[in-house]
Amino acid sequence: MTKALYSGSFDPLTMGHLDIIRRAAKLYDELTIGIIVNPSKKAMFTLEEREEMLKEVLKDYDNVKVDHFSGLLADYVNRSGFDVVVRGLRNTTDFDYEMQMAQVNDRLFNDFTETVFLMADPRYSFISSSVVREVSSLGGNIEGLVPEEILKRMVK
Ligand code: ADP
Repeated sequence: MTKALYSGSFDPLTMGHLDIIRRAAKLYDELTIGIIVNPSKKAMFTLEEREEMLKEVLKDYDNVKVDHFSGLLADYVNRSGFDVVVRGLRNTTDFDYEMQMAQVNDRLFNDFTETVFLMADPRYSFISSSVVREVSSLGGNIEGLVPEEILKRMVK
């Protein structure tokens, strides 16, 4: 059985994240969505809200579960025994950062753990959580950038 992890802040979950989740869930037996808990980062949604929203959006994905962790990603990966860490690539900026992280993590991960990259769907490659937060906080329309369930909460 192949256990995969997809981690991020998901503040909020976007259509780009959801696309990576949908595709990774088809590739691996079990996919865990690991919400990164970072108390020093000012978040729009609390951890509880993000966890609740992810569970709501992903309720029909039988092999996907939602979890959270703080501290070093490699510690969480090693203690949970993930075989694969999935990342999404939108552009060369992501690539430069992600390659460095994958190379550092390769030294820290259990020997059997691999980082695997999925190319962003071009329909969503311009979307980031920070763009969604900025547009929404200034009253702009974020329809189509986040799943319906999230849109309802953000409008509220
Ligand atoms: P954080 O909030 O911790 O910075 P991100 O939300 O930026 O995390 O990213 C988590 C992962 O999802 C990263 O691998 C990132 O490249 C990927 N990702 C983010 N947005 C998209 C998108 N629109 N399409 C594909 N992958 C994405």
